[in-house]
Amino acid sequence: MKSPPLRAARPAGNEPPALPDWQSYLSHLECAQCGSTHPPHALHGLCTCGGPLLCRYDLDSLGKQVRREDLVGREASLWRYRELLPVQHPAQAVTLGEGFTPLLPLQWGARHGLRTLRVKDEGRNPTGTFKARGAAVGVTRLRELGVRRVVLSSSGNAGDAWATYCRRAGIDATIFLPDDAPATTLAEAALSGQRVHTFGGHNSRGGRLANAFAASRDAFCANTFQEPYRLEGKKTMGLEIAEQLGWRMPDVVVYPIGGGVGLIGIWKAFAELLELGWVEGRMPRFIVTQYDGCAPIVEAFASNRMRCVPWGSIDTLPGGLRAPKPIADFLVLRILRETNGAAIAVSGEAALAAVRQVMATDGLFLCPEAATTIVALRQLLANGGIGSDEDVVVVNTGSGLKYASLFPVATNRVDDDMEAIA
Ligand SMILES: *Cc1c(COP(=O)(O)O)cnc(C)c1O
Ligand SMILES: [Zn+2]
Repeated sequence: MKSPPLRAARPAGNEPPALPDWQSYLSHLECAQCGSTHPPHALHGLCTCGGPLLCRYDLDSLGKQVRREDLVGREASLWRYRELLPVQHPAQAVTLGEGFTPLLPLQWGARHGLRTLRVKDEGRNPTGTFKARGAAVGVTRLRELGVRRVVLSSSGNAGDAWATYCRRAGIDATIFLPDDAPATTLAEAALSGQRVHTFGGHNSRGGRLANAFAASRDAFCANTFQEPYRLEGKKTMGLEIAEQLGWRMPDVVVYPIGGGVGLIGIWKAFAELLELGWVEGRMPRFIVTQYDGCAPIVEAFASNRMRCVPWGSIDTLPGGLRAPKPIADFLVLRILRETNGAAIAVSGEAALAAVRQVMATDGLFLCPEAATTIVALRQLLANGGIGSDEDVVVVNTGSGLKYASLFPVATNRVDDDMEAIA
């Protein structure tokens, strides 16, 4: 688009797109590390300082022009929150029906002395995890900014989500995954027909490979927090939790953390809703969990550091919690401290046992990552870290179905007595 004559040229990327389908109130991007601002409609990766960029919105205007009641009757997907998303042309959204997952009560809570425990069940999403939210919004926004080739590395579930959403968008994707990623994840990524490369050794290798590939092949690197839009998709978990609670926030959110996008997303959602006046009250306490074989956030929180020390040798179950040095570690640690939260490490065996327990009390198949929150809850209830009357939400980040091979089971074979009645 040409700027009109006799007017000072605005910096590239400040022009809103021609004829948006609806109003996104995106106003600019802001670096979470150095605070500098960047124009909203240009393609960005990291800030020049190396920090992650966050989408910012004109919440003043939004608050005057839109009421939360306006959401009533909109589609039951994350696209119902279009004003708070960066996408300009949602009619061209790359969607497989993501979001608006149920917030289910868990009887496990009452059995363990917690009156109100709910789980946000992200296992219902396309590709079986909440990574579909980030991929839907991230891929849609990157495509409208002109990206044709994407590369990313993932410890598992972001890989198959981005492979499938890029396929649907007509974007070429190259995905780096650890070679012990769950078979379902590898199959889903590969069946999409995108290029999938597996690697052995430390997880940090994947991030380096993806960046090197992007630089040499003219592809956009969409690694965790290396672009600002995935976060906005994951933010919708927080918008939904508030809306599903009747525009209220819980007292405590417990979240299994890897790169931190989901946690920061939920916190950002609540912050925006508080600023809009759509919810009242206090920001919840944020509590995060990790496997003890890769727990850089837990370690940094306990030693009162602002940043993580890169985690050395990783020894965890396969899946989403392997992030040896999250780019947005400082933001996660700030959220935990500001909200009087906590960070707890849990063993893989305890998590697998908790999957079985919640299946036995509630019939819900958690993923092992999310089951770490159940293990932590039991500790927190025992040591007073959480009170029995607190309103707690845990996030089931993915479906246990993706990890079925981790659960050997005994079944009863049909015997002669059975044959006799048949
Ligand atoms: C990615 C992932 C996580 C961690 O989420 P972050 O937003 O990266 O912190 C947790 N559980 C599952 C199943 C995941 O795929
Ligand atoms: Zn910066």
